[in-house]
Amino acid sequence: TVKTRFAPSPTGFLHVGGARTALYSWLYARHLQGEFVLRIEDTDLERSTQEAIDAIIEGMNWLGLNWEEGPYYQTQRFDRYNALIDQLQSEDKAYKCYCSRERLDALREQQMAAGEKPRYDGHCRHSSEQHAADAPCVIRFKNPTAGSVVFVDHVRGRIETGNDQLDDLIIRRTDGAPTYNFCVVVDDWDMEITHVVRGEDHINNTPRQINIYQALGAPVPEFAHVSMILGDDGAKLSKRHGAVSVMQYRDDGYLPQALLNYLVRLGWSHGDQEIFSREQMIELFSLDAIGKSASAFNTDKLLWLNQHYMKTSPASEVAEYLVWHMQDQGIDTAHGPALADVVSLYAERCHTLKEMAEQSRYLFEDFSEFEANAAKKHLRPVAAEPLGLVRSKLAELNTWQAEAIHEQINAAAADLELGMGKVGMPLRVAVTGTGQSPGIDGVIALLSKEQALARIDMALA
Ligand code: GLU
Repeated sequence: TVKTRFAPSPTGFLHVGGARTALYSWLYARHLQGEFVLRIEDTDLERSTQEAIDAIIEGMNWLGLNWEEGPYYQTQRFDRYNALIDQLQSEDKAYKCYCSRERLDALREQQMAAGEKPRYDGHCRHSSEQHAADAPCVIRFKNPTAGSVVFVDHVRGRIETGNDQLDDLIIRRTDGAPTYNFCVVVDDWDMEITHVVRGEDHINNTPRQINIYQALGAPVPEFAHVSMILGDDGAKLSKRHGAVSVMQYRDDGYLPQALLNYLVRLGWSHGDQEIFSREQMIELFSLDAIGKSASAFNTDKLLWLNQHYMKTSPASEVAEYLVWHMQDQGIDTAHGPALADVVSLYAERCHTLKEMAEQSRYLFEDFSEFEANAAKKHLRPVAAEPLGLVRSKLAELNTWQAEAIHEQINAAAADLELGMGKVGMPLRVAVTGTGQSPGIDGVIALLSKEQALARIDMALA
C-alpha cells in the first residue's frame, strides 16, 4: 500500500510552499487509500523550536491534512541512525575522516579557482594514517566511484547523475550528530514510505540518498519533486510578498477549503477545472499531472476562490469560521443574529471573513455616531419625513422578516411619492451607521424590532 509523508524542519511557521507539498503528499495517499505520515525533522537543534513544531501542527490541522502516523521526531531516533552508521562502518561502506577545516577550505578554494565544483577528494578514504582514538573526526559515506544513479521523477522525468559528480557525504558530524541526508533515508525506509513528495530544492540530494538506500539494502521509494512557488513579480515567494504563513491566511479571513483549492491548482491541473471540493481533489489527484514549471502566486485568484466558498458552502459551516474573526475583532456574538444568517447576507459582498466581520459589526453592537459623510448626505436635514413615516410603518409590523419590511419601505416611498433611494438610504444610515450595506430589508430583519426602531429614533433626534 502507498505511504507518503510530510517532513518539515521546524525552523519556522508552515508556509504556503510547505503546505502545498504536504497537500500533494496527503492527496496522493488519500487517492490510493494509503497512509500519510508526519515527521518532524528537528535534527538542527539550533534552529528547531517547539513553537515552530506547534505552528506546523496547527497549520496542518487548520487545513484538515490529517495523518495516520506521527508526528515522529528525528531527535528521538538518534540511536537508530547511529547504529546504522556503525553498521556501515563495519561493512566498510563508511569511514572516519580527520581532515581539518583548513585542509577542506584550501581544497575548496583550489577547486573553485580551477573552475571545478567543490567536492571532497576522498583523502581519508584512501589514507592509512593512524589517529588517536579520541581524535575528532566525521563519518563519511563511501559513495560509489563508478557508474551513475538513475531515477524517474514523477514530475521531472528521468534523471541520471554520474557518481563522479557526487562525493563522500558526511553522515555523522564531529559532535556525533547524524546528518540530514542520512536521517531522511533511514526514516523513509523504517517508515516504509513508498512515495517521497517534496520540494524541488531537494532534487540534488536524491541521487546521494539513493546510494545510501542501496548501501543499506533498503528499497528505494519513488520520488516527486514539486517546483517552487514564486511571488507575482517572479521572485521566489517570500515575506516581502505579504502573507506566506498558512495561519496568516486564517487571520486574513480565508477559509481552509479556499486555500486548499488554491494550492492544489498552483502546480497541478485537471483539464481547465478550477473548483475542486476536497473529495474531488482526492478522487482526481495524480503525481504525474503536477506541472514542471514554477507557479506564481496570485492573490486575486485566491480571493475569488475564497468568496466562491463563502457563497457556496453551507452558511452554518462558514459561520463556524466566522466566529473566530468576530472574536478576533472583539465582537460579542452572544446576542444578535445567527452567524449563518450574517454569512448568507454578506457572502456576496465580501471576499474574506475578516471583511465580513468588520462590515457586520453593527448587527451586534449599537453605535452612538453615524459615519459623518453618510449622515451629511442622507440624514440631515432632508430625511426627517421619510424616516418618520417608515418608522411608523415598521412599528406596525407583527412579523419581523425581510419581505414584510420591504413592503413597508415601499409603501412609505409610495405615500411620499419618493424614489426608493430617498427612503432606503436614510434608513440604511440610520440602522447601520454607514452608507453601505446589503439590501436594507435583509439587514433590518437581522436586527430586533426594538433595535431597529431605536436606531431610527436616534437618527431622528
Ligand atoms: N526537512 C526537509 C525540509 O523541510 C524535507 C526533507 C524531505 O522531504 O525529504 O525541507
